Amino acid sequence: MTVIRGATTISKDSPEEIRSAVSELLEQIESRNALKREEVLSIVFSSTSDIHSFYPAKAAREAGFASCSLFSAQEPEIEGGLALCIRVMLFIEKNIEPHHVYLRGARILRKDIAQKYNIAIDGPAGSGKSTAAKLLANDCHILYLDTGAMYRACALAALRAGIDVADEAQVCDLMRGIALTVLYQDGVQHTMLDKEDVTALLRSPEISMAASTVSRHPSVRMKMVEKQREIAGKMSCVLDGRDIGTFVLPDADFKFFLTAAPEVRAKRRYDEMVARGEKVDFETLKKEIVARDEQDATRQLAPLKKAEDAVLIDTSDMTIEEVLKTIKRKMQEKI
Ligand code: C5P
Repeated sequence: MTVIRGATTISKDSPEEIRSAVSELLEQIESRNALKREEVLSIVFSSTSDIHSFYPAKAAREAGFASCSLFSAQEPEIEGGLALCIRVMLFIEKNIEPHHVYLRGARILRKDIAQKYNIAIDGPAGSGKSTAAKLLANDCHILYLDTGAMYRACALAALRAGIDVADEAQVCDLMRGIALTVLYQDGVQHTMLDKEDVTALLRSPEISMAASTVSRHPSVRMKMVEKQREIAGKMSCVLDGRDIGTFVLPDADFKFFLTAAPEVRAKRRYDEMVARGEKVDFETLKKEIVARDEQDATRQLAPLKKAEDAVLIDTSDMTIEEVLKTIKRKMQEKI
């Protein structure tokens, strides 16, 4: 008898995603091991505790594994473990040299047969980096880490505590007493201050400017950078920010620097805010963005800067689809 192992990840907990991920995984295992369906005795699945909407075993039955025995179990929640992951073991009648199959984000589980990679996307506010990063992560089935949200959460904590955001010692003292963490639910980042999910509170212009100010403080910055390096060290991810390619991950496998004319960047932010039903004055917003860029680009530690080896993309006249296409083409050229 032979046991073949495999794993894959999904980007959100939905029956469609589970069906397609399970059938892709089983098809790959079959073809890489030259299996016939009737040689499979039984299939055992285990999925991480964030998967509830469908049994992988049922997905296998639907994918045509009609005669073997099937079983699904759920794993306990493990801190720092891979999110939205489905693991499988196939018991095969004949004796063969097994080819284990790890797909999508689960490739990280087997460093020996698959390689982890990180993608750095830096650039000023409104350059399109976070939209591109999100789409790219979804496309590659890897994690998206919004590093700006971490500085924003820190700014929110300081503003709530009535602390002067420009005072490094006070901000640093405050953050020593608060656990700032990022969690993922259905592949979406949630930024937490202690046990409170503050994700929805981070997008105001006041928080943007305060985030830029707190991010100037080396002691605050190093705490955030340490967390970012820890996450990127464990799994493949796309990180967007100001200093990913230059400072957080100078050895990132792929680096991009997105930019656009200030007028265009301000217009994008303006449209986003209007769509959210917020009242905003275009000229004020433009001034705020230019002031923030200036502050980000002139700070001492890890300023906003293109890494020498980053690919520069001016997105002023590009749609987001064109930006994504360009990024993917550049990545393929490098592989
Ligand atoms: O990207 P976002 O606009 O959310 O970032 C908010 C602020 O956080 C930036 O203006 C910048 O000052 C800071 N930041 C940073 N380094 C990062 C990400 C964000 O300094 N990697």
